[in-house]
Formats: sequence, structure tokens, C-alpha cells
Amino acid sequence: MTRAGSELSDLLAGVVGAGHVLTDPQVVAGYATDWTGRFRGSAHLVVRPADRDEVAGVLRVCRDAGVSVVPQGGNTGLVGGGIPYRGGVVLSLTRLTDLGPVDPVTRQVTAGAGVSLAALTAHAAASGLDFAIDIASRDSATVGGLVATNAGGLRVLRWGSMREQVADVEAVLANGQVVGGVTGLAKDSTGYDLSRALVGSEGTLAVITAVRLRLIPSFTERATATLAFDNTTDAVAAIGALRALPSLTSAEVFYADGLRLVCAHRGVTPPFSSEYPVYLLIECTDDEDPTGELGAVVESLPRLRDTALAVDGAARRALWTHREAHAEAVNALGAPLKLDVGVPPDQAAEFEREVRAITAETAPSATLVLFGHLAEGNFHVNVVGAGAAEDDLTDRVLRAAAARGGTISAEHGIGVAKARWLGLTRSAAERGLYAAVKRAWDPDGTLNPGVLVAEPAT
Ligand SMILES: Cc1cc2nc3c(=O)[nH]c(=O)nc-3n(C[C@H](O)[C@H](O)[C@H](O)COP(=O)(O)OP(=O)(O)OC[C@H]3O[C@@H](n4cnc5c(N)ncnc54)[C@H](O)[C@@H]3O)c2cc1C
Repeated sequence: MTRAGSELSDLLAGVVGAGHVLTDPQVVAGYATDWTGRFRGSAHLVVRPADRDEVAGVLRVCRDAGVSVVPQGGNTGLVGGGIPYRGGVVLSLTRLTDLGPVDPVTRQVTAGAGVSLAALTAHAAASGLDFAIDIASRDSATVGGLVATNAGGLRVLRWGSMREQVADVEAVLANGQVVGGVTGLAKDSTGYDLSRALVGSEGTLAVITAVRLRLIPSFTERATATLAFDNTTDAVAAIGALRALPSLTSAEVFYADGLRLVCAHRGVTPPFSSEYPVYLLIECTDDEDPTGELGAVVESLPRLRDTALAVDGAARRALWTHREAHAEAVNALGAPLKLDVGVPPDQAAEFEREVRAITAETAPSATLVLFGHLAEGNFHVNVVGAGAAEDDLTDRVLRAAAARGGTISAEHGIGVAKARWLGLTRSAAERGLYAAVKRAWDPDGTLNPGVLVAEPAT
């Protein structure tokens, strides 16, 4: 470490204690590499404050030293947004794990930015409530990361994305000033909603330290089934019919090749003895057993090929494994190119065909695995082995989504991975506003340079 580096390390140790300034290159490299192994950066050091005031102290030291800061939670983000590309300091928020009491009147709770999604959900359950967002990275993904990326996941069709769950946010600006709070007033019309500005901000505006979150009812009864179809058109039509059920919570799509991969990777058996082209995992949750009402709608689906209904908890977990193990099974093949695109659901089937055609043309020897949240027209496009064709493939898939009035990021964010394609779905005027917002919150461009707003904040 250089002299300037060790001076910085000493100053930060004065704020958080020497044990929470990590400088061992191997340890730092772990924080500088993402979950897929695809995004690798480098940092001077990792600093791990324990609370809001220590976060403020860290930011003041870094500002005075002119060092960039990359906020990081569970490091499960998939667009390289929490990886230090320009050196600087990784600010890990995982020690901010305070969880306040659940308020039974507002049904809200305050969670520190470093609380994992799994811990938050367990805390809500202890008060007979639930948290709406659920994603496969639940054991590591943090509240701060979920807010910063506006995470979606497995239950968006019923409860919305992270944005809908956030009542208030407390954050620290790059200059160390604290903004916002976590009172969670049910109503507040005092001008601009600064909390909402931080949802989806990807660590570029301020460091989130605590969040006031809305909770949802905890349902005791659930019905889970995997439905088989010949094509995506039929699966989308089935969701249209299933939406008649108020208890419908999840509608997840995957395909024959992905299921084969998961079964081989995990050593599990598929839901049917025959293989079908398209699978839709459905879950309904309610106070009373929704199996009957789900069964009635399923029976009425004209183009359904087969149904596997979970009869107990073990069977339900088996069905969910078929869908949730896709990401790790793909990763086991090699570091994938991951695109998280969305189109209006009525275009999902055509878009799926288009993505397959683009991949076959651009990277014929690559492995393409598609899965996602079909009720939102959201596909996770995973490609392993595209090599030099990756850029071209990315460009064509993102343009195809944009041309259909879709989005280049339905839930993972822009990060560094898609910053140069932002213009596909945000106009020049909108990008100008993004840059102005960035300058207003972080005039020196200290936080997460190169993420989301690709232009330097001048
Ligand atoms: C197996 C797997 C499945 C996944 N499934 C889904 C899914 O279904 N839906 C979905 O939306 N995502 C999914 N993800 C992506 C990921 O889990 C989410 O984006 C999650 O919200 C990231 O949380 P994190 O704490 O890991 O954030 P990180 O990866 O640490 O950071 C993500 C971004 O948030 C910023 N950030 C983190 N903490 C803070 C903070 N306190 N203040 C300011 N900025 C901060 C970072 O700078 C970075 O830009 C999945 C990931 C994996 C590995």
C-alpha cells in the first residue's frame, strides 16, 4: 500500500476502528468481484462502518482525500454497480443490521441498510406479517441494495417492486450530511419526495443507512403448481386467466433447456416424466387454502399440456428449486452475460423468439438460457460462451426490447453494464435531468463514478 493509501487507512481506522478497515489484497479482491465473477475491479481498501454516524465520518474522510466511494451491500447485484472500477474505497454496509419493532398500526418497520432480506422477512414473520419482496439472493441481498436497485423478484405481480414497499429513507450525502429520516408518516405532502429519488439510484446519489418499510399480511395457506405449455403465447394467455384469482402471487417462466440444466446441476428430478417446451410456476397465497380456486382456473385453461401440483412443503420446495436454481446452474457453466429485459407482456412471446434468433445469429455456439417473471414480461437473458460477440449480442437484445416499448433493465438496474445503452430508453432531456440530479446530490462525483449516469458529473 502506498503512503497516501496507508494514511487514508489510518484516518478511516480512526472512524470505524482498525479491525473494520480491510486492506489484505485477497480480502479486498473478494469485495471487488461480483457474484457471477464477470465484473472485477480493484480498491485501495474496504471500510465497514457500524452505524449512520460512522458512515458520515467515512464519507467526510474520503471527500477530503478526494477518493471515490462505492457503496456495497450483499454484493449480489448483477450489473457491476457495487464493484470498484476506478480504485477508491468500497463502503460495505453489512454491519448496519439494526431492526426496529414492527408498528402494528402502520404495519411498518425500520431496517438498517445492511439487514439481509431473509432477516427482514423473519423479523416480520415474528409479528405475524410478511415482507412483499422475495428473491433468490435473499440470504445475502441487503435492504440498502434492494432499495438502491429497486429490486423486483418473485411476487411483483401482486405487491409491486421495492419502490412500493418504501415509506421513508435515511441517507448520508457524499459530504457527510444526513438527509431524510425513517418516521414513516402515513401521509406527507411536503414537496419533493427525496426517499423515492433514492429508490433505483444505485449508490450514485447518497449512501442509504436505514429504511422505513411497509409490511404485508402473512398468509398461512398456499397452492403451488408447475404448468406445462407448448409455447410462451399459451403461458401468457394462462396468466391472463389466472389473474382472476386475487390470491395469485407468482407466475415464473422457464424453458426445457433451463430445467434440464437445473436438474443436472442440482441432481433433482423434473416435475413431469415428459419434457415440455415451456413451464410456468404458479403460486397463490391466502388465509384459506387457495388450491380449489387455483384448480378450477387451471382446469379451464385450453392449451395446458400438463400440471404438477405440490401436495406438501417438500413438493413445493422442489417446484421452486426448478425455477430458483436457474441462476446458479447457469453460473456453473461459466461467467454468463446477463441481460434483464422487459417488454409489455402481450409481446413477450414474440420477443422470446426474437432473442433466440438474435443469439443464434450473433453467437451460434453460445448457450442461451431464458427464465423470468412472465406476468411483467421480464426475461432474464443468460448467455454463456458468447466470447467476442457479447457486445453485439447485448446491443441487439437491448435494442429489440427498446423497440417494443420495453426496458433495458426491468429490475437489476443499469450499473456499469448498461450505462452506455441508457439512451435507448431515456431521452436526451431525461438523461440531462439524470446528470443534473447527480450533480445536485453529489457535486464532486464521489459516489459510484461510472455507474448509471455514465457522464462525469461536471
Ligand atoms: C441468485 C440471484 C437471484 C437474483 N434474483 C433477483 C430477482 O429476482 N429480482 C431482482 O430484482 N434482483 C435479483 N437479483 C439481483 C440482486 O440480488 C438485487 O439487485 C439486490 O437488490 C442487490 O442487493 P445487494 O445488497 O446485494 O446490493 P449490492 O450488489 O451490494 O449493490 C447493488 C447496487 O446498490 C448499491 N448499494 C448497495 N447498498 C447501498 C446502500 N446502502 N446505499 C446506497 N447504495 C447501495 C451499490 O452501489 C450497487 O450499485 C438476484 C441476484 C442473484 C445473485
